[in-house]
Amino acid sequence: MSRPASVTINLSALRHNISRVRDLAKGSKVMAIIKADAYGHGLIRVARQLSDADAFGVAFLDEAQELREAGIDKRIVLLEGPYSAAELMEIQALGLEIVVHDVSQLEMLEQVTLPKPLVTWLKIDTGMHRLGFLPELVNMAWARLRDCTAVAAGIHLMTHLAVASERDNPMTEQQLATFFDLIRDKEGPRTIANSAGVIAFPESHVEWVRPGIMLYGISPLSDSTGIEEGLQPVMTMATRLIAVKSLRKNEPVGYGATWRCPEDMLVGVVAAGYGDGYPRHAPSGTPVLVNGQRVTLIGRASMDMMIVDLRHQPQARVGDPVVLWGEGLPVEEVASHAGTIPYELLCGVNKRLNLIEHG
Ligand SMILES: *Cc1c(COP(=O)(O)O)cnc(C)c1O
Repeated sequence: MSRPASVTINLSALRHNISRVRDLAKGSKVMAIIKADAYGHGLIRVARQLSDADAFGVAFLDEAQELREAGIDKRIVLLEGPYSAAELMEIQALGLEIVVHDVSQLEMLEQVTLPKPLVTWLKIDTGMHRLGFLPELVNMAWARLRDCTAVAAGIHLMTHLAVASERDNPMTEQQLATFFDLIRDKEGPRTIANSAGVIAFPESHVEWVRPGIMLYGISPLSDSTGIEEGLQPVMTMATRLIAVKSLRKNEPVGYGATWRCPEDMLVGVVAAGYGDGYPRHAPSGTPVLVNGQRVTLIGRASMDMMIVDLRHQPQARVGDPVVLWGEGLPVEEVASHAGTIPYELLCGVNKRLNLIEHG
């Protein structure tokens, strides 16, 4: 038997999830965010399924190049914009659009002569304090873009929400108010919402929304799972039991002997570990599905294997199916046990796993 660990990508769930975005943000165009290899799901595979999107958002040029090489001719926005003036020719040749968030990028654009002006998204920092022009610099940046021959007319206006995953955090309303105030006298398509904005803040929908994580079936909100938000999980990480054994009371389990059997009991060895992208920090008690039933991780996950408590699965046998997250076990739950977020787990899935598509 070859190694049973695999990642399954459910393509019909992807299509379902983008239709859910359409239902929630009816009047808005959708920029589907597929940076970081489509959150670990495979850039080209995901782009092909999301043919219903109005544009794609990626972090940087190489990701966009990959899409164009695969023949994808949809609008593509570089969310971090150009890193250097040298990139602008290629950006123009590939027909990409840029976010402009820093004075250094204004300078690049002002110094270059392009055969055709670039579609530009002016990023405004309304409080996240990552990318974007601070409020007092917005008029200056907007005027310089308007006067720049390398920039197409009809500048898009953009900001990013910092705390929209918390429904009651008043900072989101403040960010919205700041944004609407700063752009009051400016025309142009606007965009604010990430997935959390799409689900929890309808007033953030405006002309364009920018969903990422919800396309992959995961709730961006701290108090719900994707299933509860009407989404379907796209990725399932699965494997099988490769050993089952009976241990005596007080016997230790795994590296560091951090867990001891509270009684005589059955344990199972699962063929996947942190070398596959399972979080090494997942503690004993993290849920795992064996034969579709919940059991728990015991001891530390190792590189290729981990051990589970089979006291509630006395009939379990070598070869039985195991799900680490995905269908039947929300990755939100595993992430929360491991002290991280689903985004990190999805992006961290190792390419050595067999990749299976269905739907
Ligand atoms: C990654 C990203 C998004 C998508 O965020 P999700 O929380 O995954 O929906 C939207 N906008 C920008 C600028 C991003 O970088």
